[in-house]
Amino acid sequence: MPPLKIGLIDLVSKGPANTLWAKIMHANLASIMPQVIATWCEQEGHDVTLICYTGYEDLTRELPKDVSLVFISTFTQASLLAYALSNYYRSQGAVTVLGGPHARCYPDDAALYFDYVLGFTSRSTITEILHNCVPHRPVGIQLSAGKQPANFCGVEERWKFIAPTLKKAPFLQIVPMLGSVGCPYTCPFCIDSTVPYQPLDFKTIQSDLRFLRTKYKKPWVAFHDPNFGVRFEENMDAIAAAGPPKSFRFIAESSLSILTEKHLQLLQQNGFIAVLPGIESWYDLGNKSKASHITGMEKVNQVSAHVNTIFRYVPYVQTNFVLGLDSDAGTEPFELTKRFIDQAPNAFPGFSLLTAFGEAAPMNLEYQKQGRVLPFPFHFLNNHLAMNIKPKNYDWVDFYDKVIDVTDYAFSAKALYRRFIHTHGTTTRWMNLMRAISSEGWGRLKFYRQIRQHLVHDRNFRKYFEGETQQLPAFYHEIIKKDLGIWWQWLPANALSHDANAYFHKSMNGHA
Ligand code: SF4
Repeated sequence: MPPLKIGLIDLVSKGPANTLWAKIMHANLASIMPQVIATWCEQEGHDVTLICYTGYEDLTRELPKDVSLVFISTFTQASLLAYALSNYYRSQGAVTVLGGPHARCYPDDAALYFDYVLGFTSRSTITEILHNCVPHRPVGIQLSAGKQPANFCGVEERWKFIAPTLKKAPFLQIVPMLGSVGCPYTCPFCIDSTVPYQPLDFKTIQSDLRFLRTKYKKPWVAFHDPNFGVRFEENMDAIAAAGPPKSFRFIAESSLSILTEKHLQLLQQNGFIAVLPGIESWYDLGNKSKASHITGMEKVNQVSAHVNTIFRYVPYVQTNFVLGLDSDAGTEPFELTKRFIDQAPNAFPGFSLLTAFGEAAPMNLEYQKQGRVLPFPFHFLNNHLAMNIKPKNYDWVDFYDKVIDVTDYAFSAKALYRRFIHTHGTTTRWMNLMRAISSEGWGRLKFYRQIRQHLVHDRNFRKYFEGETQQLPAFYHEIIKKDLGIWWQWLPANALSHDANAYFHKSMNGHA
């Protein structure tokens, strides 16, 4: 087979970016899988170009040219840009493939715009495409390996594709690694809850870390595991064997139940700088936070004490909350979050609006059955620009009032000051401040206030939120047009809308 000219595009951004956070961090948010696929394609003898779009490049200039096969990886929020790019490449004669979270959440929609749509992807999935690189239109083929592969390429193998992306990060370069896939917990809102937990080879982790010490004096590493440390001892042994204590700076997402004091001591010894546990709610989803039997203020007291214990060992903690869950009603859940902010002042609060990403999670089927999923274009599905589930216990204006109130509280001058003085270390202090004044804190607050204004003063806007009309408000239409820029003209005709209940319809036909 003659070598193919292959392009891979990792979309971290959905359009030009202009925030400080994006400038510093987007290049550090590159996905691992595009790098793995690029490595596999090259090992199969093909000519490969990979780009990571962070929002700061001139995409027209950076895009791989004269390619016959293009892989695009994206989260749902950048999928409209991915659809436009696929349309453009198809017009140039290329075959296009979509992978990443959007392909897993909305495979039927993506198949309308791509020749191949990938679920779990193994090396043999890729070789199948390489050997059958022909267009499939009008509806693309969906391929899935059935489960996550047992082997991903390690950092050393992927380095050729990692290094150019990290060069775009001006201050902090964080290498993406993987110690496991899937999760043993079954939080029904989570895409990983249905993926069996599978640790990856600890020897590869060890050799990759050794390799990184030849590249950086004290490497920063982010573990992309959905729940790092389930096989805690093996992970720590692999890290400890890769270099003397504190040779690395690690970031990982772990459930609170893993972050016991004994484990925290080991995390500290091994250089863990940041952990991101999920709290989600004061009334529900406690099975992973060691607080399954308590709720309300009792849970606030226990979790804040636990988070303060974590801070004795790890200098940066982000606590994740989901706003608008069905278990929440009235003012209390929001007030409890404020008490948590008071009691654990150094934790960075990460807020997500309840969002159902297609068929990602078991709970989404229930929301679709109940007719509560709204058809917000994919562009806004990133956990904060839109909440695509009608809240069970709140009216929209009331809900946004409460979201604005808690966000305002979390990023008020008083909260920022307390977070600053209680946090140790220049990087961590600076990171908190940058996130608060950038798009995440004040930026979101400004956006939520705009939404609230429209909900009160624009009847058609409100009707869209109530599910009484499918006519997208001009406010959202204009944002997409602006973000896509010259790619707007390549957006396929029907791509702004999708079947918000596709998962339910599929289940009715026995295909889910
Ligand atoms: S513990 Fe975290 S990764 Fe695991 S299922 Fe729950 S939310 Fe998902």
